[in-house]
This record gives sequence, C-alpha cells and structure tokens, in this order.
Amino acid sequence: MFISQKHLFCLFISIQIGIGLVAQSHCSFDERWFQARQADVTFSSRMIEIEKRLQDRIQNLTPLETRSSFQVPVVFHVLWNTEAENLGDEAIAAQLNILNLDYTGQNTGFGLLPTPFKSVAASVDIEFCLATTDPEGNATSGITRTRTFADSLSIKQVYYSSGEGQDAWDTDRYLNIWIANLENNLVGFGSYPGQNIPEEDGVVIDYRVFGINDHPRLNMGRTLTHEVGHYFGLFHPWGEGFFNSDCKGDDRVPDTPLQSSTFNGQCPDGLSSIPESCGSQDMYMNFMNYTNDQCLHMFTQGQKFRMLAALLEMRSNLLDAETCAEVNQPTPTNGILNIGPNPSQETVYISSFLQTTASVQLEVFNSNGQRVYQMNWENLERYFSHAIHVVDWSNGFYLLRLKIGDEEWVRKIIKY
Ligand SMILES: [Zn+2]
Repeated sequence: MFISQKHLFCLFISIQIGIGLVAQSHCSFDERWFQARQADVTFSSRMIEIEKRLQDRIQNLTPLETRSSFQVPVVFHVLWNTEAENLGDEAIAAQLNILNLDYTGQNTGFGLLPTPFKSVAASVDIEFCLATTDPEGNATSGITRTRTFADSLSIKQVYYSSGEGQDAWDTDRYLNIWIANLENNLVGFGSYPGQNIPEEDGVVIDYRVFGINDHPRLNMGRTLTHEVGHYFGLFHPWGEGFFNSDCKGDDRVPDTPLQSSTFNGQCPDGLSSIPESCGSQDMYMNFMNYTNDQCLHMFTQGQKFRMLAALLEMRSNLLDAETCAEVNQPTPTNGILNIGPNPSQETVYISSFLQTTASVQLEVFNSNGQRVYQMNWENLERYFSHAIHVVDWSNGFYLLRLKIGDEEWVRKIIKY
C-alpha cells in the first residue's frame, strides 16, 4: 500500500502523542525537519546547497584545524514558572561540564567502548563556556532568567519575549540554549545550520532532562550533547526520517554504520554481543542515537569533521574570543594562561608560558567580593603551573584575578 509522506507524518504524530501520554520521548529534530520541508518549498534546495558547502569544507579541513580546540560561548536562557523549573547556577555548571567532557572524549564511557568502534571514536575538541560578555558588551554570567506564566511552552514560544520566552542573543555569536517546561513531552531540539531563521537558531531543552536529573532514561545530561550535535550539522545515524527499516537512510558520515533501529529507550550491554542491522554492527552508543543516557559514549572522527566543518563554514562567528574568555586567553604580557577544568569540582589548574621579572599576584574572590585565595610569585620561570583546591568551596561563581606588575587580568571560574 502506498503511504504518502503527509499520511506518514500524521501517523508519526499519532504514535508520538500515544507515547507522549506515557513518558517523555526523544528529540524533535526529524519532526521539525519534516515540517520545514513541508512548509517551505525552498527548504530542500537550501539544504542541498548547505550540504555541498559542508562537504567541500570537510575535504578542505587542515591538519591544524582538526588538531585544534575551539571555544564556543554559550548563553543559557532559563524560562521558569515553578521553582523546580528555575534551575540553579550549579545545575547549569554541571551540565556544561558534561557537555565539555562528551565533546573532548573525557566522558567515562569513552574509554570502555566495544573494540569495533574504538578506532573511530573521536574527541571533537569543541569546548563550551558561559559567555562573559553580553551583546551590548556588558559583563554577564552567561545565564538569563525569565519568569513565564504558562504551564508549558511550545518550541516556537521559547524563542520570543513576546511569546513567554526570551529573545535570542545574537545567534551568530552565541550558542543560545533555552531551558523550559516544553509542551507535549518534547525533550529537546537543536537547529541544524540554516534550518531556522536566525532569531530561532540554537538549542531548546526540557528542564526535566537537563544535566543530572531524575528522568528514568535521559538522566545524565546527554540530551544536550545530542541536540548540540544537530546544531553542528549532525543527523541521526538512521538519516533523515523517523525510522529506517529499509536501511536506505544515512547520516552522511562515512564511519557511522547504517542502522535500522533508533535504540529509543534501549541500553544494550554490548559486551557479550553487539546488535546488528543493515549488514553491520550497530554503533548504539553513538551520542546521536536515542539510546538511554548511560549507554551513550561517543562521536566518531567523521562526525567530528562534519561538526568542525559546520563550525568553521556556517558558524564561525561563534569563535569570537571576546565572548568566550574561559580558556587560552592572552594575558597582559602576551603569555598564554590556561585555566581548567572550568567549571570544576575539586581542583582548578592554572598553567602558563610566562616569563617575567615583575611580581605576579593571583587572587580569587567569591560572589560577595571576599578574597578566598591568594598566591604571589617573583621572577616566574618560563613554564608555570599551580593547583587551587576548590573542593571545600561553596558552589557558584568566583572571579580569579591575575596581576602582573601593573596590569591585571580577570577571569570567571565556577565551582560546582
Ligand atoms: Zn535528535
């Protein structure tokens, strides 16, 4: 029997509503992709053009680019009605840390991958920081908080202050992430490059699947990892569409095997046997699957190259150093200072290549302006490294000030 795409879509929505009554489901990417294609006759041709640009850029990535680490500034827009929806700074810091671990291959599962997939697993080397400067150039925490008066919001509503949401910050220069109580059990959506108009470009996530949480399946912060993957040009491993029983769908990434399943709600152990479909073993632990959070562990080299191409070709204005000042910022003496991990739970390491005869003073202040840490040095050697133990500090923001002679340099660090 022939089933038109329109009927298929209605069928899909009916299934979704049925599932939605029971539990939160999965991301809305396929659904919104389909809607955009139906609503806009130019959508498919625009996406073909973008695909060509991405493929060209992938071919032309330089070794330096693929070895580099890129920093992306993030603004979180917290849209809340009840206190539970008004997630604290610590929860945001913890989610940001998960995102950074997943995108730098430092998540625990990365080291425990089944043998067939170890050789293609990649550290994407994109790091995310809270924006330190808002669009007007003022200092910011990188978090906005907006009280709403709706029990739940549609994805469209979150994008606009006039619609119970929050207007985006310049989406060329910031990755906007809206956290809200989403209607219809939606868990999240990340807009593919060029998919949405600029005012609606970014990631939307339900507060119940944000960071470490109580959701039965999406409880380890991987929904954001997944949606940011879409934002940087990744499809689901089964390609465009809602399922892939004929194995014709593909994600345009050479080293992710074809698969027919979405692994929605599943968590294969992968040790005794690896599921197979479409004539190959399934990479069920890939972050772009619908597998439960605890079984998601990796991106591939091919996905990394696709994300770097999207960043460098379509989203390069994000790499504005003034808005992402957490790491590798030049110091007043033109040395390079590294601070990390940031956010941190136990120890913040400060290291740099500096050579100066000036006196150097390092101080850290809490959010009340009280100094909580101080160190001084004279005649710094070329390489300098120092550990600050923060495990006993209260959670929240701190300002680290480095004075070199008469010059000073201030950076925000986060304890969670
Ligand atoms: Zn998705």
